[in-house]
Amino acid sequence: MIQLYIPLNFLGVIYREIKQSLTDLEKMFTLMEREREIADVPGAQPLQLAADGADATVRFEDVTFAYDPARTILHGISFEIPAGKTVAVVGPSGSGKSTLARLLFRFYDVQQGRITVAGQDIKQVTQSSVRSSLGIVPQDTVLFNDTVEYNIAYGRPGATRTEVEAAAKAAHIHAFIAAAPKAYDTMVGERGLKLSGGEKQRVAIARTLLKNPPVMIFDEATSALDSANERAIQAELQSVAQNKTTLVIAHRLSTVVDAHEILVMDAGRIIERGNHAQLLAANGRYASMWALQQSAE
Ligand code: ADP
Ligand code: MG
Repeated sequence: MIQLYIPLNFLGVIYREIKQSLTDLEKMFTLMEREREIADVPGAQPLQLAADGADATVRFEDVTFAYDPARTILHGISFEIPAGKTVAVVGPSGSGKSTLARLLFRFYDVQQGRITVAGQDIKQVTQSSVRSSLGIVPQDTVLFNDTVEYNIAYGRPGATRTEVEAAAKAAHIHAFIAAAPKAYDTMVGERGLKLSGGEKQRVAIARTLLKNPPVMIFDEATSALDSANERAIQAELQSVAQNKTTLVIAHRLSTVVDAHEILVMDAGRIIERGNHAQLLAANGRYASMWALQQSAE
């Protein structure tokens, strides 16, 4: 009995190890798949940006994009985020908001038109330089099977524990981590610390705060949080994004009222645009979305 039990238990360990590495492999292949889709042009140079990001203006110029040639997702999208300003995108689910974020982070290349950062077409510069100048808090965060510290410091390899903790505090995830068995050394994932959607999102926010890039993308970054937490983190994000070029995709309109410009998307097109006051005055789609959310709150 004992003899049978031990090998079986051992097999269980091996099985879990294999399963774990398969998950990592799968993640790696998914990443590699994306890497292959977007190869650097021959002789591509790194993106040139001023150290303080003062020139980090982002422009979408008549961008058309399809994941699958049979179905165009974005139709001739043009907008500008002046350096240091925030542009917000709102609209129904499926309208193409996250696609804008993915294109700016260069997960995919556009088929028509172009996206520039500081006047440089992101398709013509190295992908790695684009990625290192931009921070993204995606809708669904995938964490690595590694320590909490690694997962946060991934935003800036070489960051000190103090810096990691400061970012975690700003993202309101420090207390949760501190309470885990090995705090920042706790492993994340199946066999370690299990995080809810909201907690993962806060780790991603901490990662981006630590990376502190000149251009930030928040894709419904606080959507998985309850409203008290959302408000607290939103305030934090707003102060961090103060002088950053920021693209914010929001489902809660109260978070976009101060944006330089708000784009209202529907079916891959910008159907309305302007600042909060202008859009309310226009009394169109945004105004009715606003009225609806006000009455709900
Ligand atoms: P939103 O963020 O506004 O909800 P998305 O940008 O995620 O919208 O999606 C826009 C459209 O693109 C949707 O119809 C969606 O089904 C489609 N889509 C999103 N991602 C992919 C993908 N990887 N492959 C094919 N179609 C996709
Ligand atoms: Mg989305």
